[in-house]
Amino acid sequence: MDTSRYTVGWIAPMSLELTAALGILEDRTTIEAPDDDVIYHIGRIGSHFVVMVVCPRIGIEPAATALANMRRSFPNIKHILVVGIAGGVPGYGPDLREQIVLGDVVVGVPQHGSGGVTHYEFGAWEGNNELTVKGHTLHPSAALLTAVNNLRSAHMLVAGSRIPEYLHELRMGLNKRWRQAFEDPGAENDHLFEDDYLHPDRGRTCEGLCDATRAKRRKDRGPRAERETDQPEIHYGNIGSANAVVRSSAKRNELYARHSIICLEMEAAGVMSDYQGLVIRGICDYADSHKNKMWQEYAAATAAAYAKEVILLLPSGTGVQKNNNTAGNQYNIPVYGHPAAFP
Ligand SMILES: [Zn+2]
Repeated sequence: MDTSRYTVGWIAPMSLELTAALGILEDRTTIEAPDDDVIYHIGRIGSHFVVMVVCPRIGIEPAATALANMRRSFPNIKHILVVGIAGGVPGYGPDLREQIVLGDVVVGVPQHGSGGVTHYEFGAWEGNNELTVKGHTLHPSAALLTAVNNLRSAHMLVAGSRIPEYLHELRMGLNKRWRQAFEDPGAENDHLFEDDYLHPDRGRTCEGLCDATRAKRRKDRGPRAERETDQPEIHYGNIGSANAVVRSSAKRNELYARHSIICLEMEAAGVMSDYQGLVIRGICDYADSHKNKMWQEYAAATAAAYAKEVILLLPSGTGVQKNNNTAGNQYNIPVYGHPAAFP
């Protein structure tokens, strides 16, 4: 097997994130790389040859090791993506008016002096008992950031996002038993509890336990929290990464106030300390005490669908891509993902 043609690397931290990823990987198969003790999933997304790997466990170090092994086994990897699920900060921006709802996607891009990922528990404890964060991470490569910018524009054009279409494709790639789990759970299952209302029993879910009158539904959060089925909003900002799970609205709010972190996860710092990759996270909870697993599959799916959109906007290296899809574009202008060949 010729590993030299694989130029895109995809790190899926957990198995359900790998499941979503494999749902969109075309012509997929597995490969054992010499001198490596894991199996890789290889295939295509558009004209790109893509290699995927799942981590043995969550956390920064396993992700760093997965990256190092992948780069050794696939020496021509140019673009690395970390694609998975995360906790989200419900409101951000001026007057906290931007609303992140469950199933939305957060993409780590440079902002407020950060490269897009902050390793927020790495630094020095100072005399005033404050942690000065020194978790420097790299920003995504110019190629990835350019693809992201092209995609941001494309989402504003008449054809809009292709995420709904890719979500459908992804589910069709799954075993029938599992398709339902990767559906959009819907606004009625998105509850944002008041910050000071704590979940009383970690052994039980909120249903039948927590006081629903202490939770906001999307309709209570204004028009920016409204979503059609399978049409997540994409948010661009700073992602917080550390080995500790955040299950506290107080900690979540503090991290937003201090570092403008809008999304919390546990792997990106292991990749971005060494490599200019791109971190894409579907939001499955609000990083508070009520966090549960209900939205995990769908959030993994929206992140994977967005990642596919980004990959289709990376240059293929051949100088030519076939324009074979103008669906939804009444002017028959080549739609993004299938750029016309340069003359
Ligand atoms: Zn609860």
